[in-house]
Amino acid sequence: MNLTFYGAAREVTGSCYSLEADGKKFLVDCGLQQGQDEKDNQRLPFNASDIDFVILTHTHMDHSGRLPLLVKEGFRGKIYAIEATCDLASVMLKDSASIQEMDAMWENKKNKRTGKDKVAPLYSTADVEDTVELLVPCSYNNMNKISDGIQFNFIDAGHILGSGSVEIFLSENGINKKIVFSGDIGNLEQPIIKDPQYIKEADFVVMESTYGDRNHEKSDDYALDLAKIIDRTLLRGGNVIIPSFALGRTQGLLYLIRDIKERKLVSVSNFPVYVDSPLASEVTKLYDDDLMIYGDSQTKEILKGGFNPLDFPDLTFTDSTDESKELNYNPVPKVIISSSGMCDGGRIRHHLKFNLWKEECSIIFSGFQAYGTLGRELLDGAKEVTIYGEEISVLADIYNFTSLSAHADRDGLLRWINSFEEKPDKVFVTHGEDQVSDKFAEYLNELGFLAVAPLYKSVYSLSNGELVSPGVVR
Ligand SMILES: [Zn+2]
Repeated sequence: MNLTFYGAAREVTGSCYSLEADGKKFLVDCGLQQGQDEKDNQRLPFNASDIDFVILTHTHMDHSGRLPLLVKEGFRGKIYAIEATCDLASVMLKDSASIQEMDAMWENKKNKRTGKDKVAPLYSTADVEDTVELLVPCSYNNMNKISDGIQFNFIDAGHILGSGSVEIFLSENGINKKIVFSGDIGNLEQPIIKDPQYIKEADFVVMESTYGDRNHEKSDDYALDLAKIIDRTLLRGGNVIIPSFALGRTQGLLYLIRDIKERKLVSVSNFPVYVDSPLASEVTKLYDDDLMIYGDSQTKEILKGGFNPLDFPDLTFTDSTDESKELNYNPVPKVIISSSGMCDGGRIRHHLKFNLWKEECSIIFSGFQAYGTLGRELLDGAKEVTIYGEEISVLADIYNFTSLSAHADRDGLLRWINSFEEKPDKVFVTHGEDQVSDKFAEYLNELGFLAVAPLYKSVYSLSNGELVSPGVVR
């Protein structure tokens, strides 16, 4: 009965854990590594055909993005996830495959010029199609039995629609253990999303620690806070550029901007808003009545009144690259929501190139920016950045609006772990930057927990919680 950390060990992305029990080997999540060195770390560190099944906590790429690679390399088992996660997975993974295919195409163009060998994409659209076939939709609070020794249950993690924490019940040779994987723990008061559900008992816990070292700013009215920045910027003739994850964050922002317009929280409420990300547009279309049954009571109330909580006048979803480019030559002050959320690719880089050097503009970050990304560079106060080979001065106002984050802050993480009535035998702290995970584990130890921040590839026995293999620093 072993647990191996194949990702998100002292880093934020690449979630992937393997469990061995009752004669089976299975994964919780199989995510992509994002940010610095991502290309070096994408290959699977185990044999894909050895895996019997996967439990997927949610559709963000850092949790699900290597599933098609798993399938490409021979995995043929089932992938269990909440129904909303299954609905969103196909769109998200297809987008990821087209990025992989595009990256390989560009690399091959370069390789041809330099006489290097051709590279294949990490996976293709066909691999995604095979992956989607393996998804098994599950419901919250409903036990799923794999064998006499393995059962699991999803609990709403309140992070994005369909996100779950997982309680896994293992039994082997007369030893019974319960291990809980937090998944990504949601932030309270997020638009659309329910608050996280809490869990009362476990022998072992694997928990995220993205914001384990800080708290989000609290406010009574997040729409008003956002409105103030938008108002200030538009009045001085600038654009508001919001780098946003296509799934979750974009829809949360649209919900807030509709509220801002309805309550007339800005001087000129008919300001134009553009969602300039084909993926975000496609995902937003999926937020229909069926998907919104996973939403919170306020969202359901709006839907009951016959309104779409994500729609309002002056909202445009741009599709073609030409439409996207035109935005940069359109002088009307506007809000542009674009991907990728960490600015490491996608159309957002063009918008930053055109707006960062204008002091009348504002850039609003509302999600975690991993080390090594352009988003992180800007948040860390860079005065100049390189985009598409050009040096761009940073004169626009940069805001870090973490209160809109889909992740719990330090207090939220503590609330989650303190909801266990008895302290688990061990808490494994993952999904945080090296020092953050360490610091959060240390803090948990001060509170009387037995917590560790495990290393990549470290193995622990779940029979007694002891370290079997120490793993490696990378
Ligand atoms: Zn997530």
